[in-house]
Amino acid sequence: MTEKIILVSDGRSTVPAIPASLAPATGSVLDSLARPLHDLRISVTDRCNFRCVYCMPKEVFDKNYEYLPHGSLLSFEEIARVARLFIAHGVEKIRLTGGEPLLRRHLERLVEMLAKLPTASGKPLDLTLTTNGSLLARKAQSLKDAGLTRVSVSLDALDDATFKRMNDVDFAVADVLKGIDAAQQAGLGPIKVNMVVKGGLNEQEILPMARHFKDTPTILRFIEFMDVGASNGWNMRDVIPSDELRRRIHAEMPLLPADPNYNGETAQRWRYADGGGEIGFISSVTHAFCHDCSRARLSTEGQLYTCLFASRGHDLRALLRGGRSDAEISAAIGALWRVRADRYSELRTINTDGLSRSGSERRVEMSYIGG
Ligand code: SF4
Repeated sequence: MTEKIILVSDGRSTVPAIPASLAPATGSVLDSLARPLHDLRISVTDRCNFRCVYCMPKEVFDKNYEYLPHGSLLSFEEIARVARLFIAHGVEKIRLTGGEPLLRRHLERLVEMLAKLPTASGKPLDLTLTTNGSLLARKAQSLKDAGLTRVSVSLDALDDATFKRMNDVDFAVADVLKGIDAAQQAGLGPIKVNMVVKGGLNEQEILPMARHFKDTPTILRFIEFMDVGASNGWNMRDVIPSDELRRRIHAEMPLLPADPNYNGETAQRWRYADGGGEIGFISSVTHAFCHDCSRARLSTEGQLYTCLFASRGHDLRALLRGGRSDAEISAAIGALWRVRADRYSELRTINTDGLSRSGSERRVEMSYIGG
């Protein structure tokens, strides 16, 4: 049963040490398993207007739930400063997440600030955003104008009743589809639609979703239901393995494998054999991809997490607000990445009752650091 009170952050984060030698960033830094720092996911709010059962269930995130006070959130200036330091270490892709990032007021201002940052390799920054799509019809054009490259939209069903049951706030699927169309028209493609599949809840939507997005420029990606955080009541029995999803789709719409776009890509790419476009599978549970995971996550209040399943953050906000110089913060980020050894999904073990066993530490909630 779900616990009533869930702390998104347990306050056990540590303030990173500043290394004695402030060697400047070189445009590339490897962790202890030789994985480069390539992606940065930045959560801009811990709030969401949906109550998806696998992410922010209503019985936990109810009207008494205390969100972070505004003053504890990183300001846009602070976010842009940290992003610049990460980019100097080799980050080429930044994804804005939440909560629901479009709930953060004037987000376009942040997009504008980030879009101007040059990468270490001289390539344009891949600046993207994950949204539930509810505000996208209104915001797509202004986000594009501000410099956003692409969007990913979370959508777990096409059937209105199923979708409403999953978002738990009676939001109609037609409005998300309007948002996807608006993003397409604004030039925020290729749009990726992410569908979390939970056995017994929305598995009947797998084929309708595949049929709907086939022969369109939108790339549908199926995500295995994950044991993130502590509030979603995860059980292995609710996970439908990607291989099984692919088998069901392939039986009706034959698929061929496609090459990854780059090392560390989370989704396995497939193409419809008849030329009907691309589809992807993110198999964090059954085919862990920690071996080339190049993602760092920055929480809404400036905690750095080096793994989605981490239980402790590194308090970069304390450095930002403590008068530390760029050189000092950059050296601290480099030092943290060099000792990183996270590979939770590869080490995950499942009990006979279907629960994951990952030590006794409570993991941070997904709504706090983004997916
Ligand atoms: S479990 Fe952690 S290290 Fe492994 S892929 Fe996910 S975020 Fe990366």
